[in-house]
Amino acid sequence: MKSLATQLDNRQTKGLYRKRRLVQSAQGIELTIDGKRLLSFCSNDYLGLANHPDVVESFQKGAATWGFGSGAAHLVCGHMQPHHALEEALAAFVHRPRALLFSTGYMANLGVVSALLGRGDAVLQDRLNHASLIDAGLASDAKFWRYPHGDVAALAHYLKQSDARQTMVLTDAVFSMDGDLAPLPDLAKVCQQHGAWLMVDDAHGIGVLGESGAGCLQHFDLSVADVPILMGTLGKALGGFGAFVAGDEELIEMLIQAARSYVYTTALPPAVAQALCTSLHVLQQEPWRREHLQALIQYFRAGAAELGLHLPHSTTAIQPIMIGDAQQAVRVSEQLYAKGIFITAIRPPTVPIGSARLRVTFSCDHQFSHVDRLLTALKEVLA
Ligand SMILES: *Cc1c(COP(=O)(O)O)cnc(C)c1O
Repeated sequence: MKSLATQLDNRQTKGLYRKRRLVQSAQGIELTIDGKRLLSFCSNDYLGLANHPDVVESFQKGAATWGFGSGAAHLVCGHMQPHHALEEALAAFVHRPRALLFSTGYMANLGVVSALLGRGDAVLQDRLNHASLIDAGLASDAKFWRYPHGDVAALAHYLKQSDARQTMVLTDAVFSMDGDLAPLPDLAKVCQQHGAWLMVDDAHGIGVLGESGAGCLQHFDLSVADVPILMGTLGKALGGFGAFVAGDEELIEMLIQAARSYVYTTALPPAVAQALCTSLHVLQQEPWRREHLQALIQYFRAGAAELGLHLPHSTTAIQPIMIGDAQQAVRVSEQLYAKGIFITAIRPPTVPIGSARLRVTFSCDHQFSHVDRLLTALKEVLA
């Protein structure tokens, strides 16, 4: 496989080679890597639920009651009580008639688009959407077009002249590498005007944004009529694994019939679903988690501004520090690592060429003193 070796070498020289760090401790704001303790600012465990004692206990009890595996796909004999309870809890949480569990967010996005669109239809999406939405569009038989980031006018213009039978507009709610919010109210309005379906991927808003943590749609006060299809993931703020799609009865029934990534895959282990019910409960009972997270974000942005760091506009737990060059981003990440701070460099093709960055994320388990440590290290490394 010599040609692969050449391709791998090319990646090395461009600073695009990807390596995995081996984590030797449970998830948290401090990680052990290569025997060294590091303060981490890169997980999506925004609410500290990935290793919360109540959630872990619920997982253990779930395994004791329901065993390890689900044994089959949902439509065969794998749809168990904990799955069903989680679907009902999620639907109530996001104020929608129904929710459907998927194994991952990636599979949910793939499943929805392919189930609802085919030849003669169109899928339109933001240029900075998550790879799973891009892949969902590419994998469907629908016509595919990407509009400039957040550009509602360009989208409206396209919709006006489009002769597609059915159009679906896909967008991240919180852009996963930038942290900014999609202009959801305007997108919803334009989609309604043109009879297009709007699907929102709220992987990073669920649990974090909105009055009760129900995400971006709650933040913007948007209804099922405004945004018929909501996708949320369970591996980020909820601290677990999996994803869900929420919407009206017809949407969910159609997905059960036709979403291939739902039908042809094994259901999540039931104990995972049970633990997720608990993390959803903790999240709703403890609003301090969201509030402290917001306070950390404000504190970091104020400190970064004092250092003269240019941060893009983001009010979420995702606070990228733009570096530009991929190799430089890797160097900065390594210098921070040497100082005991773990932040991965995000490079193309995850982000556009020339926009490599450090993707800083916060968790409610961080203290202000941790942010101070981060700011001091950034000052030393970037000044
Ligand atoms: C993480 C992420 C996904 C994928 O979710 P998984 O459950 O990890 O597969 C989808 N969309 C966005 C915006 C994400 O950030």
